[in-house]
Amino acid sequence: MRDSRLDPLFAEATVLTGVGPKVAKALARLLDGSPSGGEPRVLDLLLHAPSGAIDRRARPKIAELTAGEVATVEVEVERHQPPRSPRAPYRVVVADETGAMSLVFFKAQAGYIERLLPLGERRWVSGTPELFDGSFQMVHPSHVLDAEGLGKLPPVEPTYPLVEGLTHGLLGRLARAALERLPALPEWLDETLLAQRGFAGFGASLNALHVPKTPRDVAPEGAPLTRLAYDELLANQLALQLVRAHMRRGAGRSSAGDGRVSRRIEAALPFALTGAQTRAVSAIRDDMAAETRMLRLLQGDVGSGKTVVALLAAATAVEAGRQAALMAPTEILARQHLATLEPLAAAADLRVAVLTGREKGRERADVLARLAAGEIDLLVGTHALFQEDVVFRDLALAVVDEQHKFGVRQRLALASKGVAVDVLVMTATPIPRTLVLTAFGDMDHSALDEKPPGRAPIDTRLVSLDRLDETVDAIGRAMAKGARVYWVCPLVEQSETLDVAAAEDRFASLAEALPGKVGLVHGKMKGTEKDAAVARFVSGETPLLVATTVIEVGVNVPEATVMVIEHAERFGLAQLHQLRGRVGRGAGRSTCLLLWKGPLGETAKARLETLRDTEDGFVIAEKDLELRGEGEVLGSRQSGAPGFRLARMEVHGELVRTAHQDAALLLARDPALTSPRGQALRLLLQLFERDAAVRLLRAG
Ligand code: ADP
Ligand code: MG
Repeated sequence: MRDSRLDPLFAEATVLTGVGPKVAKALARLLDGSPSGGEPRVLDLLLHAPSGAIDRRARPKIAELTAGEVATVEVEVERHQPPRSPRAPYRVVVADETGAMSLVFFKAQAGYIERLLPLGERRWVSGTPELFDGSFQMVHPSHVLDAEGLGKLPPVEPTYPLVEGLTHGLLGRLARAALERLPALPEWLDETLLAQRGFAGFGASLNALHVPKTPRDVAPEGAPLTRLAYDELLANQLALQLVRAHMRRGAGRSSAGDGRVSRRIEAALPFALTGAQTRAVSAIRDDMAAETRMLRLLQGDVGSGKTVVALLAAATAVEAGRQAALMAPTEILARQHLATLEPLAAAADLRVAVLTGREKGRERADVLARLAAGEIDLLVGTHALFQEDVVFRDLALAVVDEQHKFGVRQRLALASKGVAVDVLVMTATPIPRTLVLTAFGDMDHSALDEKPPGRAPIDTRLVSLDRLDETVDAIGRAMAKGARVYWVCPLVEQSETLDVAAAEDRFASLAEALPGKVGLVHGKMKGTEKDAAVARFVSGETPLLVATTVIEVGVNVPEATVMVIEHAERFGLAQLHQLRGRVGRGAGRSTCLLLWKGPLGETAKARLETLRDTEDGFVIAEKDLELRGEGEVLGSRQSGAPGFRLARMEVHGELVRTAHQDAALLLARDPALTSPRGQALRLLLQLFERDAAVRLLRAG
């Protein structure tokens, strides 16, 4: 149950004056991705931080104006010049004792301008002056005010990330209305920390953010946002630690293996384990043999060989007479895992089955029956695995692949399918240290920081899209020599339909240039169609596969040696790295062509160059963090690290460790959050919607 003091903040935004159905719709689009996922609420407006501020305090005379610098000028209206042709602008000449300038309005109604700027009257105009034919003009000044209006003009005006149908002014007004609904809340941060960092209270910080006195009040590194980001990070760390404590509570079970299954698997492997794989496997075996519950993160770059590690962990569960589950984020990946695992499992008589959204009716019932009877040792699947009717005979190990796509709730759901289930989380994106802590708290962790031997480096080249024809020719030649090629089309506008259209267009033009050789796979296809397209690629029937980013995670076709990424400048670094990782998996020499379209911004250029210059996932991850938040990557929100609304790792990353330590200290003193301070922290968890953790507290 939410604390009733917070009710005014969790009310729908439509309670605010000025939010009708149209504005509500625009807000829903703007705030898309808020944890509620539903109608925008008052709280969402408060946590939608300004991205900048316009300083309207400067009051120069006309002669003192600087082109491009916002100014508020006191003037007298001298002359109206209505347009001579419909496309010409309406000009109004205004002046002070130092000179004159003109105000320019396109497509304006004469009556409106006459009322706005009556001849001979005194007005204050605020906007950005520019030089035109040697004198200043302001095109569509942001404000034209009389003395009374001037009194109400905020000296510093916050500007917000916007979508169509909203303006900075409107969002500012709504934020101010939302502030009025803010209840008085007890302080949950430490007095010393507040003093040290110059933080104001939660409410005062929100006030400073939306009603700034100086532009610094809205800066990401300014005190108000830093305080709020810290609140968010603390809520996150508390939640992670509560989950961990919950999972650790109650004795775990020892699942000790005797090696009889894993030895047969290792013998069937066509290669020897790398040192890093061996270390990870032995750490996992120790964890599983211990009486406590395992909660381990397995980090390893694309192609570093996590699947085998997962299989050997599953073998340990089976040796102990129990079952294992492997959950992947997509259907394609789940099937890929199955295909990799099946032959190895067969060599050790391990019984493997798959369960995704696609298994229905008899087939599904059959899997469920065998699972409950203990006739399946390892179940591979998607989130279909944690539906209620999925019952294991005795689940001992849950392996969650590509964890960052799943939330805490899902992690818990799978773990609750057995008694004291050991959890192994695998991620293919090397994560910088600070982010490991934010995303996973203090989980134990193993890194596969050693690539399997015999992999040649990938030759990565930047190619301008202007050279598309040459590129297609070169690819045709490579295919004639037997190359298998991926061609990835980008996100177009956050719209799957448009992405698919772009991929279909590219497919059509490539199919014309290379008849009979081109396949297509995208997210809107049916599962069986996807499988068929991938199968034709694997068999070499269609050696060129055009794809949207559905192939981003995990598809493994070792014969593929060429990766073409179209509009590479639109992708984030981590995503490019993931995509490139689809090639270079076999012994053959691989190539990655990053087709870019100019003009390239600084950040996009830095991203592409980083990728050209290194294949080290950890280096790329650090660089990604450094370049993040500059708002160029499609699909990245203006602010906030993934899963965060305010905290940005490139700015607030240094606070993560403090938040982590604070959370640990707070929970050590007050594990059930019952003290007055603990009660205040519960409010914090609710404000940042880490309530799942609060529920765990109650469950005890
Ligand atoms: P990822 O970490 O991306 O999941 P995979 O587990 O899919 O990587 O492994 C990528 C490829 O490397 C697979 O074809 C796998 O068989 C192979 N592989 C794994 N471990 C080794 C090893 N020790 N030596 C050689 N090849 C390996
Ligand atoms: Mg994998």
